[in-house]
Amino acid sequence: FTGKTGSQLLTERIKKLTVKAYQSIPVVVNESASVYDAICTMFLEDVGTLFVVNSESYLVGVLSRKDLLRASMGKQDTESIPVSIIMTRMPNITTCKLDDYVVDIANQLINKQIDGLPIVKEVNVGGETKYEVVGRITKTNITKAFVQIALDEFY
Ligand code: ADP
Repeated sequence: FTGKTGSQLLTERIKKLTVKAYQSIPVVVNESASVYDAICTMFLEDVGTLFVVNSESYLVGVLSRKDLLRASMGKQDTESIPVSIIMTRMPNITTCKLDDYVVDIANQLINKQIDGLPIVKEVNVGGETKYEVVGRITKTNITKAFVQIALDEFY
């Protein structure tokens, strides 16, 4: 008998949850896509964040809803603005890995005031580190995890 209370056991379980179990599919656009194309993709794929990749499929940027809204407010034609001009770009992107803890990700989302992170796999290309996008974790995924744990406890 360990002497641990129910709430200690629950806390331990929550701390051990990893990104792998709660991730969703990433939606990416090429850096040469237009702001117009990105808006269409965001609607069609029903996501709030798009990840931007280069021609070799490595992560180069992130696009949020407000990034796209801001770019649409100007007088310029959204079809003529490439997303690479308005995206948040590497190395200023917060990423995570499949075996990271969900609690740590939730903390980062709060501290950085963002909605989600790309889940990446590091690749070494001629001594340079590149990032392949393998998944996505968002506030929605974490809310689902929260509900699932609460229901597991009671049923
Ligand atoms: P919104 O801008 O629609 O409120 P977010 O809060 O997710 O959505 O994004 C806020 C800003 O942070 C945007 O400019 C976006 O490009 C940037 N951003 C979003 N996710 C990340 C991330 N993982 N790393 C770095 N910057 C990000």
